[in-house]
Amino acid sequence: MSDVIRPQPGIMEIALYEGGKAKLEGHAEVLKLSSNENPLGAGPAALDALRALVSGNGGAELHRYPSTDHAGLRAAIAEVHGLDPARVICGVGSDEVIALLCQAYAGPGDEVLYSEYGFLMYKISALAAGATPVIAPEDERHTDVDALLANSTERTRLVFVANPNNPTGTMIPMSEIERLAEGLPEQALLVLDGAYAEYIEEFDGGLALVEARENVVMTRTMSKIYGLGGLRVGWGYGPKSVIDVLNRVRGPFNLSAMQQDIASAALSDQGHVARSRAANAEARRWLTDALREAGVGVDESFGNFVLARFDSPETADTVDGALQADGILVRKMGGYGMPHALRITVGTMPDCRRLATVIARALGSDA
Ligand SMILES: *Cc1c(COP(=O)(O)O)cnc(C)c1O
Repeated sequence: MSDVIRPQPGIMEIALYEGGKAKLEGHAEVLKLSSNENPLGAGPAALDALRALVSGNGGAELHRYPSTDHAGLRAAIAEVHGLDPARVICGVGSDEVIALLCQAYAGPGDEVLYSEYGFLMYKISALAAGATPVIAPEDERHTDVDALLANSTERTRLVFVANPNNPTGTMIPMSEIERLAEGLPEQALLVLDGAYAEYIEEFDGGLALVEARENVVMTRTMSKIYGLGGLRVGWGYGPKSVIDVLNRVRGPFNLSAMQQDIASAALSDQGHVARSRAANAEARRWLTDALREAGVGVDESFGNFVLARFDSPETADTVDGALQADGILVRKMGGYGMPHALRITVGTMPDCRRLATVIARALGSDA
């Protein structure tokens, strides 16, 4: 390796992201509960839009560059959430919005703060920007506002909080988020990651706080409740000045016409969102109770997954092995510093029953 041709500082500290596995040797079909995907899939409106694109005139439009300002998609987002479309930015998943925030607001010498079990992309994007990731401890797997405030300095530029959080599934009250926004140093921007906000009925994820303050931005995704993880569409909402900055670093053609059209159609179908929310709430309740009955530690989750805690990393490995032998994939949590835990996406009720049976058997608690 050449020692003069080398990447920017920080890049080689990035551990390659490992997605939820999708394949298992010896299983033609797997039950994939490793990436928090919607078990109902994309909704009918999104699928209709996809079909229209390939069968209608849309198929002939592949040679056209897409809209650079995403006006249609931003209007659809603004309508659903009652927002100012001029303050919405769309990205290739919310991952891209997170990356743009780091690229635009944090560099060498700056700190990017998030909590202990925060989403891995915060660290990856901070390092990619040359900034220093800083971790605040959590309180029993809950975001700890006092710890975040205690770890913020004059170098803190970005603070990421997912609420509900992934992988813990826990949530803190909006009053705590408000206290955080109020207490942060003035040069720090608070980023509320609302990837799972739609799973909570009547919850705006903190959009009202974005409206009320100059130092809060929100990220959202179509990958979870909309069942469009494969489409790669997310968005952000913030003060006009911040959105303007992000649009300068965003690639003008970051979203294809297909991404924009399908996402817009999906937004018009709030029935699918409501059905997905209700199905998730029912199956999550059942799964949480079943796992607890089997002696597994499970916090009340507010997302479409639960974090199952076992008595040791060995037990977690044993359970993971039993699940894999049955063709079920869940997420190991070693990368998040929780080797004794498995993150399990809430599937359909039959999926949950099948999973709980395998886990109870593996723990010898099915008698
Ligand atoms: C899944 C998830 C996202 C969404 O990422 P996309 O790039 O939009 O698919 C963002 N934040 C958290 C905490 C997540 O769990």
